[in-house]
Amino acid sequence: MTVFQKIIDGEIPCKKVYEDDDVLAFHDIAPQAPVHILVIPKKAIRSVDTAEQGDQSLIGKLMLVSAQVARQEGLGESGYRLVTNVGTDGGQTVFHLHVHIMGGRPMRGMG
Ligand code: 5GP
Repeated sequence: MTVFQKIIDGEIPCKKVYEDDDVLAFHDIAPQAPVHILVIPKKAIRSVDTAEQGDQSLIGKLMLVSAQVARQEGLGESGYRLVTNVGTDGGQTVFHLHVHIMGGRPMRGMG
C-alpha cells in the first residue's frame, strides 16, 4: 500500500485543499516551490502508464481539477507547472498516480 492510499483512507493526515468522490488534492510534504500541491485519483492507479481506457474521464478530471485548484490557490494569473512523473527514471517515488501543481515562482528547466 502506498502512502497516498493511507492519506485517502485517512490513516495519515494531509493538508487538504480539495476533495470530491474521485479526486483529492493536498499540500506536498516537502514543497519544491512556494505552492506545491499534489492531485490524486482516489482509485489506485500506479501511473499514467498503467491507466486503462476506462480511466480516460478520470484522468481528464484530474487535469481539470488541477487547474481549478491552481486557480483557487491564486496561481491563475502568474501561471504554474503541472507534472506527473512516470516510473523510476521519470522521478516517480510514490507509485500512485499524481499530478504536481507547482507555482509561486518562475519554474525553469525540465530536467
Ligand atoms: P513523485 O516523486 O512520486 O513524483 O512525488 C511524490 C511526492 O510525494 C514528493 O514530492 C513527496 O514530497 C510527496 N510525499 C511523499 N510522502 C508524502 C506524505 O506522506 N505526505 C505528503 N503530503 N506528501 C508526500
